Amino acid sequence: RNRLQAILSGIVEGVIAVDDRERVVHMNDSAGKILGVSPEESINKPVWETVRVKDFCETITRTLRDKKVEKTELRFQASPNEKVVEVNASPLTGEDGVISGAVAVLHDVSELKKLERVRRDFIANVSHELKTPITAVRGLIETVIDDKEMNKEQREQFLEKIKNQSERLSSIVTDLLTLSRIESQTGALEVGLLDLCGVVSTSVNSLLSTAEAGGKTIISELPEKPVKVMGDREALGEVAGNLLVNALKYSPENGEVRIILTRKDTQALIEVRDNGIGIEPRYLNRIFERFYRVDKARSREVGGTGLGLAIVRHIAIAHGGKVDVESAPGKGSIFRVTLPLAVS
Ligand code: ADP
Repeated sequence: RNRLQAILSGIVEGVIAVDDRERVVHMNDSAGKILGVSPEESINKPVWETVRVKDFCETITRTLRDKKVEKTELRFQASPNEKVVEVNASPLTGEDGVISGAVAVLHDVSELKKLERVRRDFIANVSHELKTPITAVRGLIETVIDDKEMNKEQREQFLEKIKNQSERLSSIVTDLLTLSRIESQTGALEVGLLDLCGVVSTSVNSLLSTAEAGGKTIISELPEKPVKVMGDREALGEVAGNLLVNALKYSPENGEVRIILTRKDTQALIEVRDNGIGIEPRYLNRIFERFYRVDKARSREVGGTGLGLAIVRHIAIAHGGKVDVESAPGKGSIFRVTLPLAVS
């Protein structure tokens, strides 16, 4: 009996056993927590006397009455997300074939439900994001086909718009593929020993002309000694690149973007600072979500897909690191990526 007690108290699922008169003969701590009651106080009392969850008590009653397995889903209001618990109740039959009680197992499936919702939202978002440029391209092409009289200049304008929209489609798909490549763990990253100084300067160099065209400057501060990490060169280049592109996109003309690479204890720190529009505090923990944009119209205008920071976050995590942000609206933002230094 003691051994059984120990096993039951150790499992995450809630377990409750009642006798044939619905009196609790066993309740483990998890069940108590899920149902909001004290197991000690519930013992030997009819289940409905202490447990105030009507659906649960009815499930027990039905199990004993109908002598068959009953399944229910309990929903509890909890912040920030609703708590969802699956209940499986089975009758217990003695050797003589007479029902001697019932045992219910409670399984908290809130996390699972949340993931399901995230996946559903994601598919809805992807479809919407792809549909917008596709609809635009169709409309533009139909106009060109229908309007036989269209002059050369107008036609060029339409073709230019079609080109822009197809570029947008292409960047969404590229970003989605990058995300899924990092998320599918197998062989996603080609990890090797590398110097972050090289990665950062390559990203900076590839963006110098973009910055110049927008009247902005990029300043990089790199340490003299190499900063070695175990990582995927392309993916880490993408991290630096995405943060720099954002810093450029969301800062005004004459904006100054600074990328600083340092070491801090056992971590490498990449900091990207800008003096741009900044982000209001209430949006700060949402901007790393896929497709989340503070200002959709503005992001679209500057060629954003809403996936850049999600990619940065996933790559940082896949390298055992993380990304943080500090920002003041109207003043600018600082994005910080920390990655574990390679042990030499
Ligand atoms: P996007 O492609 O829209 O830039 P991201 O995932 O890269 O998507 O960024 C999400 C949102 O975070 C952006 O739409 C923007 O609102 C905000 N953001 C990102 N970086 C900056 C920055 N440096 N300054 C101000 N806002 C930023």
